[in-house]
Amino acid sequence: MNDHTVSVTITIQVPSTAPEDLISRVTALGADLGAHRAIDQVLLEIVRTCHACGCTDERACFGGCWWVNDDGAPDLCSSCSTDDGPRQ
Ligand SMILES: [Zn+2]
Ligand SMILES: [Zn+2]
Repeated sequence: MNDHTVSVTITIQVPSTAPEDLISRVTALGADLGAHRAIDQVLLEIVRTCHACGCTDERACFGGCWWVNDDGAPDLCSSCSTDDGPRQ
């Protein structure tokens, strides 16, 4: 147990509402950190974030909510959806 090598993994969480240039900058930052020998792995995690209220899976709206947006559409939770049902 005298191994002085410490494995370091960093997870960078980026809200899905972040603009593309921010995501690319964070990706570049992650690659830069990964090149540093003290850090073994840099994970980029896109966090689903409601573009209307900013809630996430971990911090849902009061009373709970779920995702109502289709793939490719901006993340929107049920609390912020004014539609009674999904549109065709
Ligand atoms: Zn919302
Ligand atoms: Zn919500």
